[in-house]
Amino acid sequence: MVTSETGPEHKGHEIEPDPRGPSTPECREAISQLYFFLDGELTDERRHKLQAHLDHCGSCLEAFEFEAELRMVIAERARDRVPTSLRERLAMVLLEESAKDRHVSDARQE
Ligand SMILES: [Zn+2]
Repeated sequence: MVTSETGPEHKGHEIEPDPRGPSTPECREAISQLYFFLDGELTDERRHKLQAHLDHCGSCLEAFEFEAELRMVIAERARDRVPTSLRERLAMVLLEESAKDRHVSDARQE
């Protein structure tokens, strides 16, 4: 039996600052390199730095583990069909990350 409605989606954990205070520049850098890390696109030096940070930063480690798991789930699902909305959401997250550096002035809708 196939239904098109899958009910409420689990939103999962968003990467949010831990109230205990690890929202340091180091953490922001670590998170921003998360995707490169998972893609194996970091140099040894950077990976070492990240590993060292994850050793003492539980919240970043959690984020990395969550992202790694998410990727496995996506890869598995992609074998069947590509979850377009999820891919688009991920793409948007990546765009937002890179948009922080530039000033993107979106056309205002009035
Ligand atoms: Zn951290």
